[in-house]
Amino acid sequence: MHYKYLIIGSGIAGFFALKELSTLDPTSNTIMVTKDRYYPYDRPPLSKYYLVGQMAREKVFLEGEEFYERANLKVLLSTEVEKILPKERQAVLSNGKTISFERALIATGGDPRGFGRVKAFII
Ligand SMILES: Cc1cc2nc3c(=O)[nH]c(=O)nc-3n(C[C@H](O)[C@H](O)[C@H](O)COP(=O)(O)OP(=O)(O)OC[C@H]3O[C@@H](n4cnc5c(N)ncnc54)[C@H](O)[C@@H]3O)c2cc1C
Repeated sequence: MHYKYLIIGSGIAGFFALKELSTLDPTSNTIMVTKDRYYPYDRPPLSKYYLVGQMAREKVFLEGEEFYERANLKVLLSTEVEKILPKERQAVLSNGKTISFERALIATGGDPRGFGRVKAFII
């Protein structure tokens, strides 16, 4: 399957990229692939409010599920991008599928054992 935009990761960086794209290029074919089991949620309030019972579970999510129900948008949860082939502009996923893209945003977060201090970058 071919997508104009591939967003890898559904943290705050990936989510807001997706949200901006839905305004700037609303008809584009976009896919978000994330290891997360849940739709994008706000992490900081988890330890400050949610855990101590001061925030309802549904308030943790950055948008309701209906936000992601668009014909030209696909969200793959619990799925890892295992490999990116930059020349071919393809990504190999942990579900065994390979997708092609025109632009990719790697928003996989900071990881001292992974991408170093880089928070997000664009292919
Ligand atoms: C409990 C908690 C409290 C926090 N409190 C604060 C705070 O008070 N102040 C503050 O500034 N920040 C805080 N943070 C951090 C903040 O929420 C963000 O996580 C951080 O800013 C990084 O955001 P990010 O979107 O770049 O990456 P992340 O939030 O780390 O998101 C990375 C995303 O990439 C996905 N991913 C990674 N590798 C792959 C792959 N190969 N394929 C597909 N998907 C992949 C992950 O599943 C995840 O969805 C907190 C985080 C947590 C968990």
